[in-house]
Amino acid sequence: MADTTLTWLGHASFRIDTPGGKRVYVDPFLHGNPKCPDAEQEPERVDVIAVTHGHGDHVGDTVELARKHGCTVVAQVELAGWLGKQGVPADNLRDPNKGGTVDVDGVKLTLTNAHHSSSAPDGSYAGEPCGIVVEVENGTKLYFAGDTCVFGDMQLIGRIYRPDVAILPIGDHYTMGPREAAVALELLGVKRCVPCHWGTFPVLTGRPEQLQELAPDAQVERIEPGDSVAV
Ligand SMILES: [Zn+2]
Repeated sequence: MADTTLTWLGHASFRIDTPGGKRVYVDPFLHGNPKCPDAEQEPERVDVIAVTHGHGDHVGDTVELARKHGCTVVAQVELAGWLGKQGVPADNLRDPNKGGTVDVDGVKLTLTNAHHSSSAPDGSYAGEPCGIVVEVENGTKLYFAGDTCVFGDMQLIGRIYRPDVAILPIGDHYTMGPREAAVALELLGVKRCVPCHWGTFPVLTGRPEQLQELAPDAQVERIEPGDSVAV
């Protein structure tokens, strides 16, 4: 089986190309994302969308993409309900809650805890923010922390899911910065990190170099929006 390819679309937005040939988008904030490359604004194919929480910079283009591509959308139950009201067809929605796993044609998505807030762009209650563990067809696991501070139970996420890579926010201000992210890697027991949620707006000041300095044993990927890593 081929590798898994993880492509950063700027901010906290990613595309996963799975070994089984699926295209999974996490927090597809494409239009309006100042760091999303032009070539990535109109995906040609979307099989699955996973959304960590209700904030506009994470829900992003989910409704439009779901309507256009008829893809499966995975989100925490209240957020899924809100997305349904915005026009995502009910048959395409999967609505787990924390600790729950859904299997979409061999790609398993598990919602984890995250410490942040979550309201929909129109102010509606959108449940609680989540992290997401994505296990692709060959067993490779990617942990998207979502927007969060560091928390001690990241140790449990590491113990239970054993992620191959952690995708962590490092921008500071709305999420953890490099100092907390270094501890997150330690708690998770994960050596490889793809940092995100930095550099999109001036207030997101954390930088991958800072995380690398604080976590010298980790492999911190210093990629730019549009770049990919093989996992
Ligand atoms: Zn947020």
